[in-house]
This record gives sequence, C-alpha cells and structure tokens, in this order.
Amino acid sequence: MRNILENMDSCVGCSACAQRCPRQCISMVPDDEGFLIPLIDEKRCNDCGLCKKVCPVLNTDGNNPGDAGQAGYPKAWAAWSTDDGIRLNSSSGGLFSMFAESCLLRGGTVFGAAFDKDFMVRHTGISKLSDLDSLRRSKYVQSDISQCYREAEKRLKEHRPVLFSGTGCQIAGLMSFLGKPYPELLTIDVVCYGVPSPKVWSLYLDDMKKRYKGDIASISFRDKKNGWKNYCMYIGFQNGRFYRRTAVKDTFFIGFGKNLLSRKSCYSCHFRHPRSQADLTLADFWGAERLKGIDTLDNKGVSLVIANTPKGQATLDSIREKCYLMETSFREAALGNPRVTESAPMPRSRALFFDDLIRGMRFSSLRRKYMNPFVQTLKLSAKRIAGPRFIERLKKLKRV
Ligand SMILES: Cc1cc2nc3c(=O)[nH]c(=O)nc-3n(C[C@H](O)[C@H](O)[C@H](O)COP(=O)(O)OP(=O)(O)OC[C@H]3O[C@@H](n4cnc5c(N)ncnc54)[C@H](O)[C@@H]3O)c2cc1C
Repeated sequence: MRNILENMDSCVGCSACAQRCPRQCISMVPDDEGFLIPLIDEKRCNDCGLCKKVCPVLNTDGNNPGDAGQAGYPKAWAAWSTDDGIRLNSSSGGLFSMFAESCLLRGGTVFGAAFDKDFMVRHTGISKLSDLDSLRRSKYVQSDISQCYREAEKRLKEHRPVLFSGTGCQIAGLMSFLGKPYPELLTIDVVCYGVPSPKVWSLYLDDMKKRYKGDIASISFRDKKNGWKNYCMYIGFQNGRFYRRTAVKDTFFIGFGKNLLSRKSCYSCHFRHPRSQADLTLADFWGAERLKGIDTLDNKGVSLVIANTPKGQATLDSIREKCYLMETSFREAALGNPRVTESAPMPRSRALFFDDLIRGMRFSSLRRKYMNPFVQTLKLSAKRIAGPRFIERLKKLKRV
C-alpha cells in the first residue's frame, strides 16, 4: 500500500495531510499500536502531491520562527499564575491558562487537548472562558487533532485571534498546513516526553471501570492534592467512588515513565528545541528551587516558559501583571529538563510490550508483566535504601 512516508514509523500522526487533501481522500485510522496514521484512498487520489508538501516530517527545515534573524532567542522564565485557583488546577504553574484567557478576552479561539465523552483525548477549539478548564492540565495520551487545523485557518482568514497549543509535532503540522505566517496566530507547544498510545489508554480505562464497577465522571493526570512534585492520577466514578495514586504507583504512569507507551516517532522527535516552531514553549520547571529567589515550598507548581520569538515574548510581557516571572537562561532551563532538547530513549521492552498487546494479551497480564506498581515500589525502596549505584551494579550483573 502506497503511503505519504516511506517509513511510516516516522509519521507523527498530526493529520496535516488529511486536512489539506483537496479531494479528502486521506483518512486517519489507528494502526496496530493504536496511533492514528493516514490511509489514502488510491481510487480517488490524483497524485497532486499536496499531502507531501504539508507533511512536517518531510519538511523539518520548515518555517521555524525561532530560527534565523531572531537574535537573542530563546529566552527562558520560571513562572506561575498569581491566581492560586488556576495554578492548582493546572499541571505546572498555570501559564497556559493566562495566555488562553488573554486570547479569549480579545474574542479569539483557543485550540488545545480535551477529553471527549469517553475520556479519549481530542483537540478542540473553545471561545468561551467557561470552557477553558476542559483544555487545562496535561493529558498524557496522543490527542486526535480532528479538523482543528482547518478550523484555525478559517478563523485566521477572518482575521480573528487564534491560540493553538499542542505538542511540538502538532504545532509543526499546523505551520506546514497553513504554509504562511498569520499575525493573529499565537502558537504554544509543550515540552514532550512522548505521546502514549490511545489504545493502551482505552484498555487502562476499561480496566479501571471494571475494578471500580462504575462509569467515569472525571479524570486528572495532574491532581495536586499531594502537591505538584508528588502529583497523582485521579479518576472519579459516577458511583461516587474515586481512585487517586501518585504517579509512581499508577499503572499507566509507570508505563509512561518507563517510556513503553510512546509513538515510535517520539523516540527521535524532530520538533524539540532548537527546532520548536512555536512562539512559546511550556513545561514543568523541575528543579526550580535551584534558582535564587524562588521558593517552591508551597508545592503548587512552577512553569518553565520559553519565549522562542518576539511575538511569544510580547505575549508574555502582556500577562506580566497576572503572574510571577523570573528570567533565567535557556541553558539553565534545558539543563534541569532534558526533554527540552532530547528525546527519551526507546527501551528494549517497548517492542515486547506492543507485541504482547497486538497478540491480544489481556490488560491485567500486561499490567503485571510491564507496569507492576509492586515492582516499581520495590525498585524505588531499594534505590532509597541502597542508593542508585547499587541499582546500577544490579543492572550490570543482570546483563552478564
Ligand atoms: C504528552 C505530554 C508530555 C509532556 N511531557 C513533559 C515532560 O517530559 N517534561 C515537562 O517538563 N513537561 C512535559 N509536558 C508539559 C507539562 O505537562 C505541562 O503541560 C506544561 O507544564 C504546561 O502546564 P501549565 O500549568 O502551563 O498549563 P496546563 O493547563 O496544565 O496545560 C495544558 C496545555 O497542555 C496541552 N495539552 C494537554 N494534553 C495534551 C495532549 N495530549 N497533546 C497535546 N497538548 C496537550 C493543552 O492543549 C494545553 O495547551 C508534557 C505535556 C504533554 C501533553
């Protein structure tokens, strides 16, 4: 079967090709691992080549606004919203909400990732402040962009403000889809560990529904009841029961942390710094306590904001009064957060995990074999008691 990329493992699933196809003969369908890939209806395709022209993977040298001619960028900041409600209901310091509010108050549309009615993750556009909470907080699953590039383009052509947020590859997809800069567009990407498989997420949810004997009412990947640094997976059920586990003890987070669940293209991502194409980049500022004058003892969350372009910087300046900001250097920020510039490596067990998944291994068995909270707790306790060097020695012994 002919496809847009010779090696489909490098496809990021942004769907720029499907949304740009003038004959609409490309559909996005899940592959065996559960990630969306383009499928061309060859009978209707007339080989116009537009799909290749807008593919961000084939055009990685595209219009990177952080590139040439913008001396002095990127600049980095530790930041948080002075509104505690927003900060506590966000993954890190709540900076995304500040940018989103500013766009919405100017009559604009904000695009970002939200849960649908089945708690699968989809991009959507909102234009009311009351809908902003649906985009808040990271959902650690690859989101389906649906028709959002087209919707954003429609608004931009009407000269209406648009804030588009997403992972680096989704922003790169948008930029190649649009093909030209728009003054009313502000783009924000998140520093990204990798996007986990929607299929694994759906199996995890089915498992949780069975265990808690109820349908799901709400989910937060970044519940801060135990603080920002000890964040929890929270799932509320319609029967009134709830599940709350720190990330180190939750099955899905263990798989995510071991980097078992990400899309293959994430392990050699082309859209991190210095190739981010967004005006602003957001992340957790892990290790913010290293910075002089920052007190993270309240444990409510600190964002890392990277201004990649003068437009990003101007937007940051415009929200200054509503947040705490401390300038640092890009180097300092990247030092404490390797995912700013480097992809997480692919573990050998990823292939085994997906082989088992595709062969139909039950989720409970996958959980026991690959994402076992008991084993994880043992490892952490051993690390705490014996120190990381002991664990390294054990690993070496295992290899022999
Ligand atoms: C898949 C993923 C992996 C990440 N990995 C890291 C990491 O390794 N290190 C790190 O420091 N930070 C990482 N982040 C970023 C971090 O979790 C926060 O999103 C960031 O600190 C912004 O937080 P905030 O408090 O400003 O706003 P929040 O309100 O928490 O941010 C919400 C923003 O995240 C976007 N978003 C949420 N889920 C998705 C999704 N599935 N796909 C695309 N966009 C999404 C929303 O559209 C919105 O723009 C990751 C985020 C995601 C989505």
